[in-house]
Amino acid sequence: MRLTTPHPDGLFIEGVALTDIAAHFGTPCYVYSRAALAAAYAGYRNALDAQGFNKHALICYAVKANSSLAILNLFASLGAGFDIVSGGELARVIAAGGKAEKIVFSGVGKSREEMRAALAAGIHCFNVESASELTQLNAVAGELNTRAPISLRVNPNVDPKTHPYISTGLKSAKFGIAIDVAFALYQYAASLPHLAVKGIDCHIGSQLLDPAPAAEAIDKVLALVDQLAGANIPLTHIDIGGGMGIQYHPDEPAPSVADYLAPILKKLSGRNERLILEPGRSLVGNAGLLLTQVMVLKPGEEKNFAIIDAAMNDLMRPALYDAYHEIVKVMPNGIRSDDSGDTAQTAEQRWEIVGPVCESGDFLGHDRALALAEGDLLAILSAGAYGMAMASNYNTRPRAAEVMVDGNKVHLIRRREEVAELFALESVLPAKSA
Ligand SMILES: *Cc1c(COP(=O)(O)O)cnc(C)c1O
Repeated sequence: MRLTTPHPDGLFIEGVALTDIAAHFGTPCYVYSRAALAAAYAGYRNALDAQGFNKHALICYAVKANSSLAILNLFASLGAGFDIVSGGELARVIAAGGKAEKIVFSGVGKSREEMRAALAAGIHCFNVESASELTQLNAVAGELNTRAPISLRVNPNVDPKTHPYISTGLKSAKFGIAIDVAFALYQYAASLPHLAVKGIDCHIGSQLLDPAPAAEAIDKVLALVDQLAGANIPLTHIDIGGGMGIQYHPDEPAPSVADYLAPILKKLSGRNERLILEPGRSLVGNAGLLLTQVMVLKPGEEKNFAIIDAAMNDLMRPALYDAYHEIVKVMPNGIRSDDSGDTAQTAEQRWEIVGPVCESGDFLGHDRALALAEGDLLAILSAGAYGMAMASNYNTRPRAAEVMVDGNKVHLIRRREEVAELFALESVLPAKSA
């Protein structure tokens, strides 16, 4: 499903024109579609349902992809659980109406305070990533007179064939426990009085387009699960992580959720352990875009620069991973999005689409063929995941507003920050007495 639909009055999301959103909320502005979010979630549910997993399987949305309260609240209302990586995300999920008993807590470094908060809330499971974390968690649970439910995140040493920064399942990664030492670590965990061994989890990377590496990882995970059962350490759930890729480039399609999951679910069908998934990007990525306006056109001898009002601080993926986001004009060529009355047809040229931040890495797109005029609105597509969640205030730039379209209505879900708020927590040193 494509997020935007063309219209003589410019692109629409559901029943709302992007020009109206820009006029009411300003730019840059993140725009999400409730229908697209719900459809992405239904895609997972239906794929699981078709393979007979429905009653058992738990979809734990990976909060880090987009932690907006409105999005968390929507997924919670659809029955989702959550995969969190910090105490902050735990608080967000609870504030958004998520259920603690559907939360799994991932991450290589959990503080004791975060462990205590998660235990007090009563989360479903801690996804533990080291021997030391087992020892610490056992101690914290002991202090609270309780037992911490745990899973070990195993590292199956498969190459997910994705960007090295988002590849996590190789031996060289900081993530997880090498699968060949996991059995011994499960025995250690089972010996600790304040831990309850529940499951196993595995997440090999992000933006995966080929399910083969994940399916290979499942084989290794299942062999370990069976070995553990034989050693009287039965597991009650298998968490296969997230990582499913989405389409960013018009020429690089991604498999459907059903097609991606098919070879993985086939290996898991008929097993008694409950299935848990942790999708992030694939639930939100193509349900959001970043709406921005061209401020300055700066044609040059070697390159033409279009300077827009969104920048690397709003959407970091191009600068961080050299990631591609499709960039489209909101209005058809020849029609201006402002009220200038100027309908002159500008010719298509190749543009570097860049932000105003003082870094050469501040680009949103390279070498894009667009017919641009100053004032034009642009939509940077596929920006729902790792967009606002990674936004910063670099250059003392207020973070963008976020809105969610629902049918013919549009709701402000996070107002634009104000400049004074950006230094409200700061203070200068007291005057020095001479
Ligand atoms: C980031 C992450 C996810 C989500 O990954 P996506 O590629 O966004 O689906 C799931 N599980 C863990 C442990 C993660 O670190």
